Parts: sequence; structure tokens; C-alpha cells
Amino acid sequence: MLTSEQAKRHQETYGFNELTEGKKKSTFVLFLEQFKDFLVIILILAAIISGFLGDMESAAVIFVVITINAILGTVQTIKAEQSLNSLKQLSAPEAKVRRDGHLMQIPSREVTIGDEVIVEAGDMVPADGKLLTCASLKVDESALTGESLSVEKSLDEVEEGAALGDQTNRVFSGGLVTYGRASFEVTAIGMQTEVGKIAGLLESTKEKRTPLQMSLDDFGRKLSIAILVFCGLLFGVMVVRGGRPMDAFLFAVALAVAAIPEALSSIVTIVLSFGTQKMAKEHAIIRKLQAVEGLGSVSIICSDKTGTLTQNKMTVEDYYVNEIRIPAEKISIEEENQKKLLWYSMLCNDSSNRNGKEIGDPTETALINLGDRLGVPAARIRQQFPRLSEIPFDSDRKLMSVSHREDEKVVMVVKGAVDVLLHRAVSIQVGTDIRPLTEEDKQKIEAQNEEFSKNGLRVLAFAYKTLKEEKDLTLQDETELTFLGLISMMDPPREESRQAVEECIRAGIKPIMITGDHKVTAAAIAKRIGILKEESEACEGAVIETMTDEELQEFVEGISVYARVSPEHKIRIVRAWQEKGNIVSMTGDGVNDAPALKQANIGVAMGITGSEVSKDAAAMVLTDDNFATIVKAIENGRNIYRNIKQSIQFLLSGNFGAILAVLYASVANLPVPFAPVHLLFINLLTDSLPAIALGLEPHTSEVMQEKPRPVGQSILNGAYLRRIGTEGLIIGGATVAAFLLGLREGGSLLGSTMAFGTLCMSRLAHGFNCKSEKPVLFTKMFFNNLFLIGAFLLGTALITAVLLLPVLQPIFKVQTLTPGQLGIVYGCALGSFLGIQVLKGIKRIFVK
Ligand code: ATP
Repeated sequence: MLTSEQAKRHQETYGFNELTEGKKKSTFVLFLEQFKDFLVIILILAAIISGFLGDMESAAVIFVVITINAILGTVQTIKAEQSLNSLKQLSAPEAKVRRDGHLMQIPSREVTIGDEVIVEAGDMVPADGKLLTCASLKVDESALTGESLSVEKSLDEVEEGAALGDQTNRVFSGGLVTYGRASFEVTAIGMQTEVGKIAGLLESTKEKRTPLQMSLDDFGRKLSIAILVFCGLLFGVMVVRGGRPMDAFLFAVALAVAAIPEALSSIVTIVLSFGTQKMAKEHAIIRKLQAVEGLGSVSIICSDKTGTLTQNKMTVEDYYVNEIRIPAEKISIEEENQKKLLWYSMLCNDSSNRNGKEIGDPTETALINLGDRLGVPAARIRQQFPRLSEIPFDSDRKLMSVSHREDEKVVMVVKGAVDVLLHRAVSIQVGTDIRPLTEEDKQKIEAQNEEFSKNGLRVLAFAYKTLKEEKDLTLQDETELTFLGLISMMDPPREESRQAVEECIRAGIKPIMITGDHKVTAAAIAKRIGILKEESEACEGAVIETMTDEELQEFVEGISVYARVSPEHKIRIVRAWQEKGNIVSMTGDGVNDAPALKQANIGVAMGITGSEVSKDAAAMVLTDDNFATIVKAIENGRNIYRNIKQSIQFLLSGNFGAILAVLYASVANLPVPFAPVHLLFINLLTDSLPAIALGLEPHTSEVMQEKPRPVGQSILNGAYLRRIGTEGLIIGGATVAAFLLGLREGGSLLGSTMAFGTLCMSRLAHGFNCKSEKPVLFTKMFFNNLFLIGAFLLGTALITAVLLLPVLQPIFKVQTLTPGQLGIVYGCALGSFLGIQVLKGIKRIFVK
């Protein structure tokens, strides 16, 4: 064991306990990577050649525009990376160490050589070390050895040089404790650990692309091919009509660059990374980016009760000893059996409470808090009766046992669920009398349990027996017990649970309570928060054991509370709902919950009370363990998806408008409506900025009035593409109108100037169209996105400057507009904006 002082010195000498990350790309490399797009390279080459052929201005502008674009891209990449990294830090694991003689919880990176670390079921081993104590410890070391079975550990010495898997008296960083408890002394940290030595292999596990990104990439590829074919044809037509091949080529390439929506999947990354930052602030940390998309489709939330729907602030309400119920304020340690129950409840207990800092299971903390109140600190009792052996609690068995020496006898104390414990008791202590436990006694205890449970109280039963000798406890010892008493505890529902449940139901999501607790307790709490309406909606996990998968699929429909559930039941319940075509979110905290968390579409772990193992398996971690946070996360998930969709709609419809204008001009045998510079300017100014701004649209709770998004529905469905087509048509129409007016009034340069101005302005204004499927004009919503307003104002200022300032005109290939002509440009753009708004209004009236 170290002192804090020593630990600090060791940290200075040995550094932090962390795996150094692989080499990060420098900003410069990221910047260069922005140019690796094939088309951009072609464009630069074309610009350079055209520069040599005399068009220096175009070449320079193209260069500048592309560089600015690359800078923007680099900044976005860095920002997205930073926000994802800070997310990772938020879900960094913690470890329990003993320093200065006290148990304390610290971030795993602060564990250092020589530390005494305590691990128990559910923990992740934070460093390599040699065991000091060991109580039935089993560790899953598959990450290190590939062996999927947990390794049983012991203090027995092992031969020098044994294979890792055989070093059973040592534990290794990255191992998951699946059973038991142990303490060990740290011998290696960070890159010196066994896992550190192979860290190079682990680093290559990169964040996978999300399904949405993959489908957008696929769509982007197909669209790019279509655009390239179109541009190729256009090049041919321009040359055939007598255009200079170099000009035609430059135009075709510029059009391809402007029209190909290369930003599709990077928009997703940016919106996801900013969205997940917001979610983290609202207590939901996303560990797998794919989960954000899935959240929008969640139709079932299976939630634990204790701590998630309830406050997990337990207080003892009653004792039941000597066949009578004693309210907490009347408990007296003067009476022998009440004192015994208090002592046993603190001995068969792993929690601690030092200076108000509680470490451990709140159920157990409640028991020692009562001791403190009655002037009996747990530490004193534990010192007086040191633990000899133990069988840790597990939620399958629902029992915990310990043994200690008392008056020369070895006593084993067992605590756990009432029903389980009563099965194993053969006698009962009433006063000093110990007599056989009759059916009548059992009924009386069960009736008391029922009464407690109906009031939503959690109940623990206590029993003991004297062992013949000191020995390591085994599961076979948990029989022939003497029943001592019950302790009831209150764990009030969280205040926000009721509202969150209501919101869920309104949003078409079914909330389900899955708990290890007693059915009556669970139903009472579920009723209070609105999850359960009829008693018939509650059942015990065991009833599903005999059902076939098909029967279970029928059955789950009518059930909203599952009590006395084991982790295997959880998996079957999730699977049954999934088979019925639902996206299921499931919470879990224990080590045994990991498989169910992995099976669920969105596995949710508890940040405060959850085991490291469950966090590792989860897609999302709640830093406040709160059910309402899941509902909030779903709202965020739906908003993020909506923002991505709107941002893509903006990009695609605008690009489509530009292509339509070019297509029209070439079919109508008119001059090309844009110079290459125009297209690039539009690409820079009206693509990236408003698209990102739309991705950052403020979230609304309106999304919770819709039903969950159907599973497997592609973002690019028919209605969406039709909308993009119609909006593109209107923008293209306005551009062509301005082009024709300009052409008639002053020839091709004026035509293209006005087309360029109109397309730019229409697209900037179109940002506001994409905010909602409803009309937004004259609503508060119109003004609620400052980024979008900023992008619009900046864009409008720049394009107006280009159209009016004579110095910029040779560079941008435009001619000065008269106020009247500028009015036409603004008017056409406004017309396209209003047209789309009116269309949205009409659609709303008729679709309703
Ligand atoms: P949830 O699954 O909603 O979190 P829970 O916390 O009640 O509910 P478990 O932790 O699996 O579920 O507990 C199941 C039962 O085991 C409880 O009802 C209680 O009777 C018993 N129990 C809980 N904690 C302990 C413990 N530390 N020691 C002994 N028995 C316990």
C-alpha cells in the first residue's frame, strides 16, 4: 500500500498509466489530405494550364477558393476529432485503490507502481499486478490471450516464465473481472503492461463508419458517376459547338467539383461530433457513433429500476425481527436480535462511507448509514470481526455470504432476496429461542414481505449459521440457515421519471421495467411512474423460461414489468422485441449484463453505479444513471438525424438547381450560364457554410411528437428525393429566369452575372427553407439559428460586393449590375425562396 505522497512521486517517475496513442496526423498533413480528391487535382491542373494560356485571374481565383475550402475542411476535421476525443476522456475508466490506509476511487490513469488495487466483479483490471488477496476471483482475459473462458485466479505461486494465461496469481491490465474480489499490488503500468506491449495491435482498431455514412458514401459514389457522365457530355457539346477545348474542360471540371456533393459523409461526422458533445453535457456519453443514428429509431426502452427509474438513495425504513415490524426510528441495539441484525448487515456488506463519501452498492450503504445513525460505525464492527471468507453477491443467485469468528465460533451470514433465502432456511430465531421454521412462519414472513413490497419498499432477508470450522465458503454452504430478520428500504422514484415515461409513450416508444427486485415492489414503483397500468402487465422473469421464442414474442406485447429477472432473461426479452422489428435500448449495470447490452441495439450503461464491464459493452453511458436521460438522448438522436437530413437536402437540392440551369442552357443552345470561377465560388460559399449551420440547428422537442423512424428506412427515400428534386427545380428555374433576362438585356456576360448572383442568393436563402418541412417565414424559428443567419449575411455581403465592386469584376468574370439588375437578382432569389415556402404551406394543408 502506498501513501498519497509516494503515489505522487511514483507518478512523476513512471508517468501515467495509459497507453500512448498512435501517431496523430499533423495539421499540415490533414490540410494536404483535403487536396487528395481526384477532381480537385484535375481542377488545379486545368487552372494552371488555363493560366499559362492567358487566363491568369481564373487560375488565381480557383487556387484561392480551393485553398480556403481546404482550410475550412481542415478546421472541421480537427474540431470533429477534438470533440470525439473529449468524449472518450469522459468515459475513462476508474479504479479502486487503497492509499494512506483508505479505500479511494481514482481515474485508472492515476494508478501507479506499488499501488494496492481492489477489484471485484464488474471491474476492469487497470494495471498488471500480483495478487495479495483473492476471493473466488475470475477474470476474462480474452482481450489479451484470446481465451474466451474466464481464468480462475488464486494466490498459489506459479512457475517462472509460465504463459500469460497460466499466470493465475497475477492479473493483467484490460482483464474484466467476471466474479469474486481480490486485491493486488501493481507491478507494471501503461505501455509496460502486457497489453501495452501489444498496444500497437490495438491502435489499429479504428472508429467504423456509421451505417448512415456508408449509405451516403454509396449514394455519393453513384451520384458522382452520373455527374461525371453529364459533365463529360457537356464538354463534348461545348467543343462541338466551337468552344475552346481548354475552356470547355475547365468548365466541365468546375461543374463536377461544384455539383458532386463530396461533403455528404463529412457533414455527418461534423453534425455527429457536435451533437454528441451536446449529449455529453446532458449526461449521455456516446461510446459508439452508430448509436446516435439508432437512437432515432428506438421503439422500446428496457430499463432497470434501481437507480435508473428510482433515486438509488436508499434508506432503511423497517426491521422485522422477533416476528414484529420495527420502524427505523424505533430500532434499538439494546435488544439482542436487533443488534445482531445490525452487525450482520454491516459485516455481510462491502460498502464504505468515509467522511460522507459513499463507495459501493447503495443497498449496502443504506445499511451502514443506519449503523452510523445508531452510533455503530461499520469500520469498528468489521475490525472486531474480520472477514474470513465470502461468496460475493450476484444478481443470478441474489444472495451474498460472508463468514467471521464470533465467540470462538465461525459464523456464516447470508443476505439476499426474501424468497430465495427462505428456501434455504430451516430454522428461525425469535428472542433467544431458535426453532424449526414452519410453513406458518414462512407464510408470516412472506406476508410481511408482501406488505413491504406493496409500498414499493425493497426488502433484504438475513440468515446465519454456525460452521464447524474455518473454511472457504462454497455455494453448498448456503443451506440449512437460521432466519434472523428482514430489512426494508425505501428507494423513491426519481421525480423526472414520470414525465420522461409520459414523453416516451407520446413519442411512440414503449418503456419497460426489467428488474431483479420483487414483483410487487417493482409493480408498485412502475405504477407510480406510469409504466404499468394493470397488475397483469407485471410478471416474474421465470415465467418466460418455459416459453419458446415464438411464444415469447406474443407474450412480451402485454408485459411492461419483469421482476426477478436474470441476465439471460434480459437477452431473450431484447431478442423477442427485435424479432418483431423493433430497435431496442436496454440498460444494464452488472457484469452479467454485458451480453444483453451487446445484444440490444443501444446498450446503455450506468456511469455512476455501473460496472466497468457493462460500460465497456455499452453504446451509451449515462453519467447520471437516469432514465430521463435516455429519453433526452433519444430526442437528441432524432434531432441530430433531422439536422443531418436537412443539411443534405440543402446540399443536394442546391447542386441540382445548378445542374438544371446548365442543362437548360445547353439544350436551349444558349451560352453557358456560369464561368468556372462562379461554380467554385458557389461551392465554397453556399455549400459548406449554410450546410454546416443547418447541421447545428437548435434542437426542438417537436421531434418527440413523431413516431420512431421505421427500421431500415433509408435517409434517401422517395419522398425525400422528390422534395430535393422539386426544390432544385425551383432554384434552377429562378436562375434560368435571371439568366434569360440578363441575356436579353445585355448579352452573355450580363446573363451569366445575373445567373451567378441569383443562384448564389437563392441557395443562401434556401438554407432557411431547409430548416423545417413546414413554412418558417413569419415564425420565431426563422431566426433561431445564428450560424445560418451569419452564413446568409456573410454570403450576401460577399456576393453583393462581387456584383457591385468594379475591382472584383475581372477576377470573378462578372459585370457591374445596375440597381435595377441587382433588384432582379434579389427578386428572383426571393421568388424561389417564397415559392418553396408556399409549396411547403400547400403541402401541409393537403397532407394533413
Ligand atoms: P435492477 O435490476 O432494477 O437494478 P435490483 O438492483 O433490485 O434491480 P439486483 O441488483 O439484481 O436487482 O438485485 C436482485 C435482488 O437481490 C434484490 O431484490 C435484493 O433482494 C437482492 N440484493 C440486491 N443487492 C444485494 C446485495 N448487495 N446483497 C444481497 N442481496 C442483494
